[in-house]
Amino acid sequence: MNRILLVEDHAAMRELVVRELQQAGIAADAVARVGEAEACLAQVRYAALVLDRGLPDGDALPWLQRLRARQVLVPCLLLTARDALHDRVDGLEAGADDYLAKPFERDELVARVRALLRRQSAWVASSPQWAGLVVDPAGARLSHGRSSVNLAPSELQLMLALVRAEGRVVRRGALEAAAWGLTEPVTPNALDVAVHRLRRKLDVLGSTVRLANTKGVGYALEQAPGAAGEHGDPAG
Ligand code: CA
Repeated sequence: MNRILLVEDHAAMRELVVRELQQAGIAADAVARVGEAEACLAQVRYAALVLDRGLPDGDALPWLQRLRARQVLVPCLLLTARDALHDRVDGLEAGADDYLAKPFERDELVARVRALLRRQSAWVASSPQWAGLVVDPAGARLSHGRSSVNLAPSELQLMLALVRAEGRVVRRGALEAAAWGLTEPVTPNALDVAVHRLRRKLDVLGSTVRLANTKGVGYALEQAPGAAGEHGDPAG
């Protein structure tokens, strides 16, 4: 799913950018502060980051530098009113992939975000695996042995979160944020409905992995007793 995170403190600008992106078919979560952006990044795997430079809780550049130091490599477009050469250089050196000075044309914004989304394939290229299940983010498919099934966008994000957790419980809130983002309204049972569909797909694949419910807490993938090692120990 091509969900991006916009960090922009100017409310009217934030709404404008979200609207432009939505019209171009790109879903965006939008926040105003670095602190909020950190919280979003902790919960959702974004395809790209659109980052205003001057934010109420500080200059966005040192934060971007810290993200890159932590190997958070999500492609980043820096939006800023500063157009001086040294500002562009600073932005690129801090780890931004591209730079757009305000005011900008709608078409240019959309084109640059699309270019970043093409780059994300390098960032999400890996296909996480666990207990014989392989999630292919680019193809939106889940496979086991020679069988594979298509995943809806929300199902893909749920499986990515669960497979990356490698059997640990993933909290309901984190799963909902992964599947539907932080700003879309989610009905209380949407997660359980999606899990029901995923369980049927696991059955179709003939996988012995169960999607176990820890009531009120979240979900985890669980290997059937005796099935451990059946597909090879990933650590070994
Ligand atoms: Ca600003």
